[in-house]
Amino acid sequence: MSFVDKKVAVLGSTGSIGTQALEVIEKHGLQVTALAAHSNITLLAEQAKQFHPQTVCIFNEEKADDLRKLLAGEGIEILTGMDGLCQIAGSGRQDIVLNSVVGMVGLKPTLTAIDAGTDIALANKETLVAGGALVMQAAAARGVTIYPVDSEHSAIFQSLQGNAGNKIRQIILTASGGPFFGKKKADLTHVRAADALKHPNWDMGAKITIDSSTLMNKGLEFIEAKWLFDLDPSQIEIVVHRQSVLHSAVEFEDYAVIGQMGVPDMKIPIQYALLYPHRVDCPTRHLSLTDYGSLTFEKPDLETFDCLRAAIDAITEGGLRPAIVNGANEEAVAHFLRDEIGFLEIGQLVREAMTHVEGGAVHTYDEVLAADQAARAYVRERIEKR
Ligand code: NDP
Ligand code: MG
Repeated sequence: MSFVDKKVAVLGSTGSIGTQALEVIEKHGLQVTALAAHSNITLLAEQAKQFHPQTVCIFNEEKADDLRKLLAGEGIEILTGMDGLCQIAGSGRQDIVLNSVVGMVGLKPTLTAIDAGTDIALANKETLVAGGALVMQAAAARGVTIYPVDSEHSAIFQSLQGNAGNKIRQIILTASGGPFFGKKKADLTHVRAADALKHPNWDMGAKITIDSSTLMNKGLEFIEAKWLFDLDPSQIEIVVHRQSVLHSAVEFEDYAVIGQMGVPDMKIPIQYALLYPHRVDCPTRHLSLTDYGSLTFEKPDLETFDCLRAAIDAITEGGLRPAIVNGANEEAVAHFLRDEIGFLEIGQLVREAMTHVEGGAVHTYDEVLAADQAARAYVRERIEKR
């Protein structure tokens, strides 16, 4: 199939990844089968009028009537809630589902798309953090490919091309270090959401921007890499690389290191996931290494950024522990974004939830959901009792 005939459903179309994906889709004239968002009906309706999907889903049911008015006469089916997301993901109408919703809410649609035998371009890292074992087993059983969108994982995926059968010694997972690189805990006591929302290299949604400032994002990516590339945690080295030019690399058995570089622009990994294996013009920019002059590499500070340590400990322990860490983090970040807790409390709450919420082995989606909800409830209770 030529890539221009590809049919794509975009879950999370109004977000940072979703809107950039639609730029790529528009450039190459791919067909859009469905679009989904949480609440932003204005942009969702605009996108629907431009891309003519058969179906749209607005997760927040209270917005559905207004969306119906905005799309009156367009002949577009309007769905709501998790059922709507899963109806789209499992419809079999598309060649690939781009999952770019934020949070563990993306897990069920991912599993549903896999059940339908549809490939997935996965930006929604919380899917793999909370339910990595379930997702990878289901994808293998169904013969479904998961194309990573996260820039680091795309870089690893790209570095692995042409290397089937060659053994990975380790992967180098690069991290920008976020806006608070070099700071110690004492410097971070008074950080507010507005400070943490200023990322040096990437323009992203609020949740991932906060995760980048606590380095939880790198912890989530550590877990994501373990699942996507079937690695032992000891094979993943996190390296702080402030310029975000080397997007990650693979060291093979012969000690050759192959990485992928490019300007920090998500459209490159988004396009590779959607058009794989084609490399064609992309709506981005040239990388001038001489403009950068030098690239730097340093060790991460696991004492200051204890979310990162919590995530590494969670996947090393395994079972439901990563789902608990993820759920606690989602809840804590939501409170931090409303300025209800301090910056350092995010890490404290995540670590506490990690030790106090009951774990165990993972067999089913319901177990993952229960662990996620227990972790969120624990964090809410701790915040209320302060
Ligand atoms: P944004 O917050 O910018 O966008 C999130 C999108 O998901 C919005 O379209 C939002 O709709 C939608 N959404 C949220 N909840 C639901 C729901 N329950 N049902 C349907 N749609 C929903 O996030 P990002 O685009 O930054 O990130 C998306 C995912 O990609 C995250 O998991 C993130 O970690 C990952 N990622 C992002 C990168 C980036 O550069 N932005 C890089 C690598 C990974 P609405 O607009 O209505 O709220
Ligand atoms: Mg990333």
